[in-house]
Amino acid sequence: DRLDESERALIARREKVLGPAYRLFYEKPLHLVRGEGVFLYDTAGERYLDAYNNVASLGHCHPRVVEAITKQTAVLNTHTRYLHEGIVAYAEALTATFPEALSQAMFTCTGSEANDLAVRIARFVTGGTGIIATDLAYHGLTSAVAEFSPSLGESVTLGPHVRTVPAPDSYRHSPEQMAVKFGNDVRAAIADLKRHGIKPAMLITDTIFSSDGIFEGPKGFLKPAVDAIHEAGGLFIADEVQPGFGRTGETMWGFERHGVAPDMVTIGKPMGNGYPMAGIVLRPEVIAEFGPKARYFNTFGGNPVAAAAGKAVLDTIRIEGLQQNALEVGSYLMGGLKSLSDRYHALGDVRGSGLFIGVEIVADPAVKSPDAALTTRIVNGLRDRRILISASGPNANVLKIRPPLVFSRENADMLLDAFGDVLRSL
Ligand code: PMP
Repeated sequence: DRLDESERALIARREKVLGPAYRLFYEKPLHLVRGEGVFLYDTAGERYLDAYNNVASLGHCHPRVVEAITKQTAVLNTHTRYLHEGIVAYAEALTATFPEALSQAMFTCTGSEANDLAVRIARFVTGGTGIIATDLAYHGLTSAVAEFSPSLGESVTLGPHVRTVPAPDSYRHSPEQMAVKFGNDVRAAIADLKRHGIKPAMLITDTIFSSDGIFEGPKGFLKPAVDAIHEAGGLFIADEVQPGFGRTGETMWGFERHGVAPDMVTIGKPMGNGYPMAGIVLRPEVIAEFGPKARYFNTFGGNPVAAAAGKAVLDTIRIEGLQQNALEVGSYLMGGLKSLSDRYHALGDVRGSGLFIGVEIVADPAVKSPDAALTTRIVNGLRDRRILISASGPNANVLKIRPPLVFSRENADMLLDAFGDVLRSL
């Protein structure tokens, strides 16, 4: 199972031409050539179960999306400065999946751009500059957004106007403590901004705290924090780039599980099932003044092909009942993982919602000490058994299980069998 000559040569060429900022997954990198549904195939024709990639949320190369893109590409692809039925119909269909107050959409190509635009809007509307995010958040790669994406590590310096708060850790705090603590932490951050003469503009959170270690609940714990930023005159931005589009099962959007009302919601990743598209859905009041002054234009964002891809994604989620599937298969998979955690104490905590699941790996469950080395061995052990997952969290010790939403019970059993096998072998 070693790398062959040609793979080693390709890695060398890659390093030479792409440079040192790029990373490959796994001790033995994967060389993929094809995807279909929940499976990925390598050059040797070996099949891998994808339990990680949330972009191809409908499954890789979903025929409805492929057809929509192909058809529209052959007819017209321009931009949003011409009238086009497709873009308007898509925006209507998209906003219809949100609570009524969130009734307008703006389109970008990446989640980073969506968050970057959200910052500009929030600052314009509030007249403030302060931003509150979580300790290990990732919101994107632009200079403005990297300033509040601490998970980028030492390559970025957080902005002087940025305050971070610990993500709510349901493994180490009781449900009662969590809402109070998160709300209080945000209040303290607001107070600290003010003390430094900085007016708060926004609180932004990924509503399932993916890079912070995946914390889905308890439901409602976001509310006191959202109230706090609103009282301080700032906006709440729900980053739904990861949890959105039905993944968390119970609701289409992660923030809905918490019963909070965001001022803006940023979306991306699964929005085009691989076609690069992202955007913001917002309250019209938020954009009313900024809009006419902004002359917003994004060359590729929301073009007719993107609109066709996006519409096919929304249709497929509905037609195939994927939100419901995420709920059902997600709880089945979570149940299986919990049974494994009864037998293997290294699995300290199993948490998540729908098909967004985290498993925290610890050396000693009594003190909940993170075990990053064991986590890496599990991820690679699963890769050797042709099951793809990854890890996240502040100590890189939370298994991230985030398969396409078409994942079946049979697929879940494949994952659970392989996981059990890995745990026995360690
Ligand atoms: N927000 C979150 C929560 C993300 O996970 C990501 C991407 N990992 C982004 C924003 C940025 O999206 P993109 O990579 O499309 O710029």
